[in-house]
Amino acid sequence: MSTRVVVLGAGFGGLELSTMLSEALGDDVDVTLIDKSDAFVFGFSKLDVMFGRETPQAVRLAYRDIAKPGLRVLQETVTAIDPEARVVTTDAGVHEADVLVVALGADYDMDATPGLAEAGNEFYTVAGAERLAGIIPEFSEGHAVIGVAGAPFKCPPAPSECALLLDDALRARGVRDACRISFVIPLGTPVPPSPETSAALMAEFDQRGITLIAGRRVASLDAARSVAVLDDGTDLAFDLFLGVPKHRAPDVVIASGMTENGYVPVDSATLRTRYDGVYAVGDVATAGVPKAGVFAEGAARVVARQLIAQQRGGEAPAAYDGRGSCYIEFGAGRVGRVDIDFLSGPVKTGTFNAPSSALVAEKDEFGACRGARWFGAPVA
Ligand SMILES: Cc1cc2nc3c(=O)[nH]c(=O)nc-3n(C[C@H](O)[C@H](O)[C@H](O)COP(=O)(O)OP(=O)(O)OC[C@H]3O[C@@H](n4cnc5c(N)ncnc54)[C@H](O)[C@@H]3O)c2cc1C
Repeated sequence: MSTRVVVLGAGFGGLELSTMLSEALGDDVDVTLIDKSDAFVFGFSKLDVMFGRETPQAVRLAYRDIAKPGLRVLQETVTAIDPEARVVTTDAGVHEADVLVVALGADYDMDATPGLAEAGNEFYTVAGAERLAGIIPEFSEGHAVIGVAGAPFKCPPAPSECALLLDDALRARGVRDACRISFVIPLGTPVPPSPETSAALMAEFDQRGITLIAGRRVASLDAARSVAVLDDGTDLAFDLFLGVPKHRAPDVVIASGMTENGYVPVDSATLRTRYDGVYAVGDVATAGVPKAGVFAEGAARVVARQLIAQQRGGEAPAAYDGRGSCYIEFGAGRVGRVDIDFLSGPVKTGTFNAPSSALVAEKDEFGACRGARWFGAPVA
């Protein structure tokens, strides 16, 4: 009988893992990939939707298009995980696994920031980005605040990108002089592992008149007064609030008993959890890397190589190196890149690559080739 691999979550991590297993083992493996959604959307596509560069429909990659040997994709919601027994319950049934991989990502805890749901807008979900696509074109004067409600949060450069793209949008409509933009971030700098990247972003903020409030988080929003209250008690009045909610592992993962301090602890070299035959990859895990798709994907590759080696009797693969490159929108159609290395050497490094037209093309290729590989069709 083939090894039954059950993968929970068809995001960056789950898609890469399932694709690699299918490519290497074909019908010699029995992979079940479960996701509650009917489509995958790249994180960066949320910014495209929010600023009207893409429609929500154009950025959806439908799971029904996946047809790979050894892999079946189920649209079900995971309602319980028993990591000891490697049994998963969903709204449609029960799945028993020889190998269980939890790749359920990070969820948003809107209640952790009182007032955010009523007074603000978040841009970290497709629905939130879609809503903002209707609101931003109407914003023509006043104070826009981009505010992060807690760390860690997905894709640390994303709120900086939001500030720069908002500045672009306001300039394009000729209303920038009537608007102020402030950006509140709990980190000391926009991209702490890369001082060069942070310096480049801060220079861009300065040049565009964007006020950076670093080392502070948005603690609550007062809907009646349209005020964001920061964690040091400062009031920041706003006319438009664009928020990044506090993150945490999905409830079903917390209820499974697998988490510590909100996320699933793993051995960063192998992505193994403390449960036999159970791995966790991506934003749901604490692997010592930032929460971003490229790291979820890199971790998934390490798990896939271990499972392939087990099946074929090969040598154990190299440890996860915590390396990944993130593209950063600098506004005005420019894209830069930061190359992060968190685990392979003695210190964490982040190397900055200044915006260039080559990087614009590289970012497009990044999405297109993953869309093609995972879904069998290029991204629209
Ligand atoms: C605005 C923005 C911009 C970003 N830009 C980038 C970027 O440029 N580069 C980059 O690398 N990363 C970027 N990211 C981050 C990236 O999207 C995430 O870090 C990445 O998706 C994490 O991958 P994952 O596999 O861990 O989880 P996810 O991709 O979040 O996948 C988790 C999956 O689990 C499913 N799920 C959750 N709960 C359940 C349940 N109970 N039952 C069934 N299914 C469930 C979800 O539907 C989801 O499909 C960005 C994020 C945002 C918000």
